[in-house]
Amino acid sequence: MAVFLYNCEVDKFTDTYKDKGARRLLIRELQNKGIVDSKVLEAMGKVQRHLFIHNDFRHLAYEDKAFPIGEGQTISQPFTVAYQTQLLHVEPNDKILEIGTGSGYQAAVLLEMGATLFSIERQEKLYLKTKNLFAKLSYKANLKLGDGSNGWESEAPFDKIIVTAGAPKVPQSLVKQLKIGGILIIPVGDEENQIMHTIIKKTDGSVEVIPLKSFRFVPLIGKQAW
Ligand code: SAM
Repeated sequence: MAVFLYNCEVDKFTDTYKDKGARRLLIRELQNKGIVDSKVLEAMGKVQRHLFIHNDFRHLAYEDKAFPIGEGQTISQPFTVAYQTQLLHVEPNDKILEIGTGSGYQAAVLLEMGATLFSIERQEKLYLKTKNLFAKLSYKANLKLGDGSNGWESEAPFDKIIVTAGAPKVPQSLVKQLKIGGILIIPVGDEENQIMHTIIKKTDGSVEVIPLKSFRFVPLIGKQAW
Protein backbone atom coordinates (compact mmCIF):
# COMPACT_ATOMS: atom_id res chain seq x y z
CA MET A 1 0.00 0.00 0.00
CA ALA A 2 2.81 2.40 0.93
CA VAL A 3 4.43 1.74 -2.43
CA PHE A 4 1.13 2.41 -4.20
CA LEU A 5 0.71 5.75 -2.40
CA TYR A 6 4.31 6.70 -3.15
CA ASN A 7 3.72 6.14 -6.84
CA CYS A 8 0.43 8.06 -6.91
CA GLU A 9 0.36 11.39 -8.67
CA VAL A 10 1.50 14.03 -6.16
CA ASP A 11 -1.01 16.74 -5.24
CA LYS A 12 -0.04 19.99 -7.00
CA PHE A 13 0.11 21.90 -3.72
CA THR A 14 2.59 19.55 -2.03
CA ASP A 15 6.14 20.86 -1.87
CA THR A 16 7.90 17.48 -2.11
CA TYR A 17 11.52 16.74 -1.14
CA LYS A 18 12.14 16.41 -4.87
CA ASP A 19 10.71 19.93 -5.47
CA LYS A 20 12.80 21.39 -2.64
CA GLY A 21 15.96 19.72 -3.93
CA ALA A 22 15.30 20.80 -7.52
CA ARG A 23 14.69 24.37 -6.32
CA ARG A 24 18.04 24.40 -4.47
CA LEU A 25 19.79 23.22 -7.65
CA LEU A 26 18.02 25.93 -9.66
CA ILE A 27 19.25 28.60 -7.24
CA ARG A 28 22.80 27.28 -7.62
CA GLU A 29 22.38 27.38 -11.41
CA LEU A 30 21.20 31.02 -11.24
CA GLN A 31 24.27 31.89 -9.13
CA ASN A 32 26.50 30.18 -11.72
CA LYS A 33 24.79 32.27 -14.42
CA GLY A 34 25.70 35.49 -12.60
CA ILE A 35 22.80 36.30 -10.26
CA VAL A 36 24.41 37.74 -7.12
CA ASP A 37 21.59 39.51 -5.24
CA SER A 38 21.04 37.30 -2.19
CA LYS A 39 17.55 38.76 -1.63
CA VAL A 40 16.51 37.68 -5.14
CA LEU A 41 18.00 34.20 -4.69
CA GLU A 42 16.36 33.83 -1.28
CA ALA A 43 12.93 34.83 -2.63
CA MET A 44 13.25 32.48 -5.61
CA GLY A 45 14.28 29.73 -3.19
CA LYS A 46 10.96 30.20 -1.42
CA VAL A 47 8.52 30.46 -4.34
CA GLN A 48 7.22 27.06 -5.40
CA ARG A 49 7.41 27.41 -9.18
CA HIS A 50 5.52 24.13 -9.65
CA LEU A 51 2.36 25.91 -8.42
CA PHE A 52 2.53 28.41 -11.29
CA ILE A 53 3.06 25.89 -14.04
CA HIS A 54 0.70 23.59 -15.93
CA ASN A 55 0.58 20.10 -14.36
CA ASP A 56 1.95 18.58 -17.58
CA PHE A 57 5.24 20.38 -16.90
CA ARG A 58 5.32 19.91 -13.11
CA HIS A 59 8.31 17.54 -13.26
CA LEU A 60 10.23 20.22 -15.20
CA ALA A 61 9.21 23.18 -13.00
CA TYR A 62 12.74 23.81 -11.72
CA GLU A 63 14.45 23.62 -15.11
CA ASP A 64 15.75 27.02 -16.20
CA LYS A 65 13.20 27.15 -19.01
CA ALA A 66 10.06 29.04 -20.05
CA PHE A 67 6.86 26.94 -20.41
CA PRO A 68 3.44 27.54 -22.00
CA ILE A 69 0.74 28.77 -19.59
CA GLY A 70 -2.13 28.93 -22.10
CA GLU A 71 -3.49 31.74 -24.28
CA GLY A 72 -0.23 31.59 -26.30
CA GLN A 73 1.70 32.98 -23.30
CA THR A 74 4.60 31.69 -21.21
CA ILE A 75 5.92 31.66 -17.67
CA SER A 76 9.33 33.35 -18.00
CA GLN A 77 12.57 31.40 -17.63
CA PRO A 78 13.80 31.61 -14.00
CA PHE A 79 17.04 33.29 -15.15
CA THR A 80 14.98 36.04 -16.82
CA VAL A 81 12.91 36.51 -13.65
CA ALA A 82 16.07 36.64 -11.51
CA TYR A 83 17.80 39.03 -13.93
CA GLN A 84 14.87 41.47 -14.14
CA THR A 85 14.28 41.31 -10.37
CA GLN A 86 17.95 41.94 -9.63
CA LEU A 87 17.84 45.03 -11.86
CA LEU A 88 14.86 46.38 -9.90
CA HIS A 89 16.88 46.66 -6.64
CA VAL A 90 13.75 45.84 -4.65
CA GLU A 91 13.45 47.33 -1.17
CA PRO A 92 10.77 46.18 1.29
CA ASN A 93 7.53 48.18 0.80
CA ASP A 94 8.58 49.43 -2.64
CA LYS A 95 5.44 50.18 -4.64
CA ILE A 96 5.97 48.11 -7.78
CA LEU A 97 3.92 47.88 -10.96
CA GLU A 98 4.27 44.74 -13.07
CA ILE A 99 2.98 44.66 -16.64
CA GLY A 100 2.11 41.08 -17.68
CA THR A 101 0.99 39.10 -14.60
CA GLY A 102 0.83 35.85 -16.61
CA SER A 103 1.27 32.87 -14.28
CA GLY A 104 1.93 35.13 -11.26
CA TYR A 105 5.43 33.65 -10.69
CA GLN A 106 7.34 36.95 -11.09
CA ALA A 107 4.70 38.65 -8.92
CA ALA A 108 5.17 36.01 -6.19
CA VAL A 109 8.94 36.61 -6.18
CA LEU A 110 8.37 40.37 -5.74
CA LEU A 111 5.85 39.73 -2.94
CA GLU A 112 8.34 37.46 -1.15
CA MET A 113 10.78 40.41 -1.28
CA GLY A 114 8.27 42.60 0.55
CA ALA A 115 7.01 44.69 -2.37
CA THR A 116 3.59 46.29 -2.43
CA LEU A 117 2.56 44.91 -5.76
CA PHE A 118 0.27 46.10 -8.54
CA SER A 119 0.12 43.84 -11.59
CA ILE A 120 -1.84 44.06 -14.85
CA GLU A 121 -2.69 41.23 -17.28
CA ARG A 122 -4.57 41.64 -20.58
CA GLN A 123 -5.68 37.98 -20.96
CA GLU A 124 -8.81 37.38 -18.89
CA LYS A 125 -8.25 33.62 -18.39
CA LEU A 126 -4.73 34.19 -17.04
CA TYR A 127 -5.89 37.09 -14.87
CA LEU A 128 -8.63 34.94 -13.28
CA LYS A 129 -6.40 31.90 -12.85
CA THR A 130 -3.68 33.89 -11.08
CA LYS A 131 -6.23 35.76 -8.97
CA ASN A 132 -7.62 32.41 -7.73
CA LEU A 133 -4.15 30.98 -7.14
CA PHE A 134 -3.08 34.05 -5.13
CA ALA A 135 -6.21 33.77 -2.98
CA LYS A 136 -5.37 30.09 -2.28
CA LEU A 137 -1.75 30.94 -1.43
CA SER A 138 -2.74 34.05 0.61
CA TYR A 139 -0.54 36.24 -1.58
CA LYS A 140 -1.78 39.83 -1.32
CA ALA A 141 -1.37 41.69 -4.60
CA ASN A 142 -3.46 44.23 -6.47
CA LEU A 143 -4.31 42.48 -9.74
CA LYS A 144 -6.08 44.15 -12.64
CA LEU A 145 -7.38 43.02 -16.03
CA GLY A 146 -6.48 45.49 -18.78
CA ASP A 147 -3.90 47.03 -21.07
CA GLY A 148 -0.79 47.54 -18.96
CA SER A 149 0.93 49.63 -21.64
CA ASN A 150 -1.13 52.51 -20.23
CA GLY A 151 0.16 51.82 -16.72
CA TRP A 152 -2.11 52.20 -13.67
CA GLU A 153 -2.63 55.94 -13.43
CA SER A 154 -4.84 56.02 -10.33
CA GLU A 155 -2.13 54.21 -8.32
CA ALA A 156 0.88 56.13 -9.69
CA PRO A 157 3.61 57.07 -8.95
CA PHE A 158 5.54 53.81 -8.52
CA ASP A 159 9.02 53.23 -7.09
CA LYS A 160 9.65 50.56 -9.71
CA ILE A 161 7.98 49.24 -12.86
CA ILE A 162 8.75 45.89 -14.49
CA VAL A 163 7.50 44.90 -17.95
CA THR A 164 7.53 41.15 -18.61
CA ALA A 165 6.63 41.26 -22.33
CA GLY A 166 8.63 42.60 -25.28
CA ALA A 167 7.82 46.21 -26.23
CA PRO A 168 8.56 47.93 -29.56
CA LYS A 169 9.33 51.15 -27.67
CA VAL A 170 9.24 52.46 -24.11
CA PRO A 171 5.62 53.47 -23.32
CA GLN A 172 5.79 57.09 -22.14
CA SER A 173 2.81 56.44 -19.84
CA LEU A 174 5.06 54.14 -17.80
CA VAL A 175 7.88 56.70 -17.60
CA LYS A 176 5.33 59.31 -16.44
CA GLN A 177 4.10 56.98 -13.68
CA LEU A 178 7.58 56.47 -12.22
CA LYS A 179 8.71 58.39 -9.12
CA ILE A 180 11.80 60.57 -9.36
CA GLY A 181 14.69 58.15 -8.82
CA GLY A 182 12.39 55.30 -9.85
CA ILE A 183 13.49 52.37 -12.03
CA LEU A 184 11.73 50.89 -15.06
CA ILE A 185 12.96 47.52 -16.37
CA ILE A 186 11.68 46.76 -19.87
CA PRO A 187 12.71 44.56 -22.81
CA VAL A 188 12.63 46.65 -26.00
CA GLY A 189 13.04 45.48 -29.59
CA ASP A 190 11.33 43.69 -32.47
CA GLU A 191 9.24 40.52 -32.10
CA GLU A 192 12.28 38.23 -32.46
CA ASN A 193 14.73 39.87 -30.09
CA GLN A 194 14.63 42.50 -27.37
CA ILE A 195 17.29 44.27 -25.36
CA MET A 196 16.64 44.57 -21.64
CA HIS A 197 16.72 48.23 -20.60
CA THR A 198 17.08 49.88 -17.23
CA ILE A 199 15.47 53.33 -17.28
CA ILE A 200 16.05 55.64 -14.33
CA LYS A 201 13.98 58.80 -13.86
CA LYS A 202 16.18 61.72 -12.87
CA THR A 203 15.36 64.72 -10.65
CA ASP A 204 14.65 66.98 -13.64
CA GLY A 205 12.22 64.40 -15.07
CA SER A 206 14.60 63.27 -17.84
CA VAL A 207 15.68 59.62 -18.02
CA GLU A 208 18.92 57.70 -18.04
CA VAL A 209 18.63 54.74 -20.43
CA ILE A 210 20.91 51.72 -19.95
CA PRO A 211 20.73 48.93 -22.58
CA LEU A 212 21.75 45.50 -21.31
CA LYS A 213 21.45 41.83 -22.40
CA SER A 214 19.39 40.40 -25.24
CA PHE A 215 16.21 38.33 -24.52
CA ARG A 216 13.18 36.94 -26.32
CA PHE A 217 9.76 37.65 -24.77
CA VAL A 218 6.17 37.28 -25.95
CA PRO A 219 4.98 40.67 -27.28
CA LEU A 220 3.53 43.48 -25.17
CA ILE A 221 0.21 44.07 -26.93
CA GLY A 222 -1.60 47.33 -26.30
CA LYS A 223 -2.32 50.94 -27.10
CA GLN A 224 1.21 52.07 -26.34
CA ALA A 225 2.89 48.91 -27.68
CA TRP A 226 2.39 46.57 -30.68
N1 SAM B 1 5.35 37.76 -15.42
C1 SAM B 1 4.80 36.61 -16.06
C2 SAM B 1 5.03 35.35 -15.27
O1 SAM B 1 5.73 35.38 -14.24
O2 SAM B 1 4.47 34.31 -15.62
C3 SAM B 1 5.31 36.51 -17.47
C4 SAM B 1 4.23 36.19 -18.41
S1 SAM B 1 4.48 36.34 -20.14
C5 SAM B 1 6.18 36.30 -20.48
C6 SAM B 1 3.98 38.02 -20.49
C7 SAM B 1 2.55 38.34 -20.15
O3 SAM B 1 2.30 39.68 -20.56
C8 SAM B 1 1.50 37.48 -20.84
O4 SAM B 1 0.68 36.88 -19.89
C9 SAM B 1 0.71 38.48 -21.70
O5 SAM B 1 -0.66 38.18 -21.83
C10 SAM B 1 0.94 39.77 -20.94
N2 SAM B 1 0.74 41.00 -21.70
C11 SAM B 1 1.10 41.31 -22.97
N3 SAM B 1 0.74 42.57 -23.29
C12 SAM B 1 0.13 43.08 -22.18
C13 SAM B 1 -0.45 44.34 -21.86
N4 SAM B 1 -0.50 45.35 -22.73
N5 SAM B 1 -0.97 44.50 -20.63
C14 SAM B 1 -0.93 43.52 -19.71
N6 SAM B 1 -0.39 42.30 -19.94
C15 SAM B 1 0.14 42.08 -21.16
